[in-house]
Amino acid sequence: MANRAKRQLNGVVRKVLLTISIGTILMILICIVLSIFVNKNEVVINRKKIDPVEKPEIVEMLLTPNKYSRPQTELSKVRGIVVHYTANPGSTAEGNRNYFENLKDKKATYASSHFVVGLDGEIIQCVPLTEIAYCSNHRNEDTISIECCHPDKSGKFEDATYKSLVELVAWLCGEYNLDKNRIIRHYDVTGKICPKYFVDHEDKWEEFKKDVFTYIDEHPLYEKGSNEEKE
Ligand SMILES: [Zn+2]
Repeated sequence: MANRAKRQLNGVVRKVLLTISIGTILMILICIVLSIFVNKNEVVINRKKIDPVEKPEIVEMLLTPNKYSRPQTELSKVRGIVVHYTANPGSTAEGNRNYFENLKDKKATYASSHFVVGLDGEIIQCVPLTEIAYCSNHRNEDTISIECCHPDKSGKFEDATYKSLVELVAWLCGEYNLDKNRIIRHYDVTGKICPKYFVDHEDKWEEFKKDVFTYIDEHPLYEKGSNEEKE
């Protein structure tokens, strides 16, 4: 009788130990899987993070809300930056901005862009970054658009325009964590020859994107390895 009780007790103890062992092994496996998953995510986030740079000087001349150039439709997610040229040699940033503004009365077409970069490098903002602009066809809904002025038919930008464009795009890449592939031409959206010089000269377009990321590397807003803002 006593032996039978002992055997039963041993059986129970064995079952409890087995359950604890399986439980422990399962817990360890779950921990390993979770740590791999978390580390992998951290690596991805670290690789993709674009360093912020200082915001360039921007003159805000926001358009009057109207359905032809500033419909006030929410821009909920920014997945790219689209570069354009005005296709109007010698025209100024302010002139192009006023053209968009006057569409509310002329009602000729639907057009606008978030920014216009002028012949002297001035940057005019026409549409807030929380709203869509009418510039890049089906990509209006998830991109920021930049029109650039140019002195002649070749569409080549003045050095001052180019410099401001680099700084503006660099700042936007940091703000929205966009990598090189997120900087596109109107040409990449619809095949339109815009911006002409960068369509005619693919190498100059690649060089432009490289210049943006060189600028980001050379002008970090924060000291590397610290959270302190630079003096
Ligand atoms: Zn365009």
